[in-house]
Amino acid sequence: MLGIATRTASQPAQRKMIHLSAIELLKRLAAGDMTSRELTQAYLDRIARHDAAIGAFLRVDAARALAQADSVDCRRRAGKPLGSLAGLPVAVKDVLCTEGERTTCASRMLEQFRPPYDATVVAKLKAADAVLIGRTNMDEFAMGGSNENSAFRPVHNPWDLARVPGGSSGGSAAAVSARMTPLAIGSDTGGSIRSPAALCGITGLKPTYGRVSRYGLVAFASSLDQVGPMGQSAEDCALLLEVLAGHDPKDSTSVDTPAPRYSETIRQPLECLRLGLVREHFGDGLNPEVEAAAREAVRVYESLGATVVDLSLPHSKYAVATYYIIAPCEASSNLARYDGVHFGYRAGQGAEVSDQGAEIRGADSSNSPASDSPLVRMYRDSRSDGFGAEVKRRIMLGTYALSAGYYDAYYKKALQVRRLIRQDFDRAFEQVDLIVGPVTPTPAFKLGERTDDPLAMYLFDLYTVSTNLAGIAAMSIPCGVSSAGLPIGLHLQSPPFAEERLLRAAHMYQRATDWHKREPAMT
Ligand code: GLN
Repeated sequence: MLGIATRTASQPAQRKMIHLSAIELLKRLAAGDMTSRELTQAYLDRIARHDAAIGAFLRVDAARALAQADSVDCRRRAGKPLGSLAGLPVAVKDVLCTEGERTTCASRMLEQFRPPYDATVVAKLKAADAVLIGRTNMDEFAMGGSNENSAFRPVHNPWDLARVPGGSSGGSAAAVSARMTPLAIGSDTGGSIRSPAALCGITGLKPTYGRVSRYGLVAFASSLDQVGPMGQSAEDCALLLEVLAGHDPKDSTSVDTPAPRYSETIRQPLECLRLGLVREHFGDGLNPEVEAAAREAVRVYESLGATVVDLSLPHSKYAVATYYIIAPCEASSNLARYDGVHFGYRAGQGAEVSDQGAEIRGADSSNSPASDSPLVRMYRDSRSDGFGAEVKRRIMLGTYALSAGYYDAYYKKALQVRRLIRQDFDRAFEQVDLIVGPVTPTPAFKLGERTDDPLAMYLFDLYTVSTNLAGIAAMSIPCGVSSAGLPIGLHLQSPPFAEERLLRAAHMYQRATDWHKREPAMT
């Protein structure tokens, strides 16, 4: 948090502007009602005031953010062409490589990692003239659903500081919710954009696999990871997705189809929308207030002309088990590179390290070093100290499921079930345009409540993981507030590459309701 200016925005108008939507802020910036410096300073002041209690940001470089703002202001005054997010602050989850800037994934392992290049989405934000206001906290390597797995500090939910914000993009969600930034970037492997969006009362979108480049996104589970927008509303997410989406030759899984102009089409209402209600999404374990809010949202859609179809996704009961085989398998493979030599924290810095070089050069499979050799000790100690407990649990789960003799029973079986889950969705989308339901089984739970119970934590992902397994798109939009004053999210799932439809449907709902305008009570 070093470097945050403590000057408070003197004008009440400046304090108020942080509550406006991204769309509105862009209009005011373009009209000259405020400068990007004033706006950026107002958010920095808000961060200085509230983030010690929330913990949404891992790093904020006020001087750099203000310099970016000044550059936009200067070019605007000179009448130069500007990008589509010109002068608007955007917070970036600390999982996206940014040239020369620490990118830690909230892990000790990468605490000192400064990537030599920008992730494609970071490059796109820079090209759109966004002000990169700070790096947001997260679960370590994006593994978690509560943000308690950050190696540095947990994030607190701005609606109730005793509760979790959801994860793993909890810092991004809390930052938007507390109006410390108008927009943020998250990543979603099994729900990490949608679940914190739901728990913090904001809007988030997980794009179709292949829609947004993963180049420079630190990999958790490569067949599931996607980057996406988080903001106050669907309109704001459309604006940001338009910048992020599109083919990237640097990511072979990014799809070469042009991304629509989401921010232009979003205002077109959808006629005769067919919504699917999935039987399995309204079963045991669903909190009654969350269920009531989701059903009420469906009634709102019906009043807007939608029809509702009851559906079954018969394999959805296997989604959590399937995800918690596939994601750890991919993670154990992706995280093998953090060995203290190629990447990451190295235990026993000093003389011992230089000994390793010789040993590494000499080591090959026919001449494996003894398990108590300095080399093996260095690997073991680096990984033991550098990774937190949940990451190690995933590595062990994945290594076990991929090992000879278990591969067919676990990993291969999980891939087969994954196919069945995808087929369920294909069939469902022959009958409906979108699927609606709850995002999370309950509103935000208390910090510490589930840290000793990984299974309870994993079950929280019940409704979100199948989206990633199927590679489809989904959103979370605010649809209620519980009796304890906690936000509730509505899940909208679409066929692949139908983000336009998702955004239009979300916007229809947000025009008819004001749940997305609710803010946590903060002074
Ligand atoms: N909660 C899920 C997990 O722990 C999802 C995480 C994510 O989407 N990055 O794996």
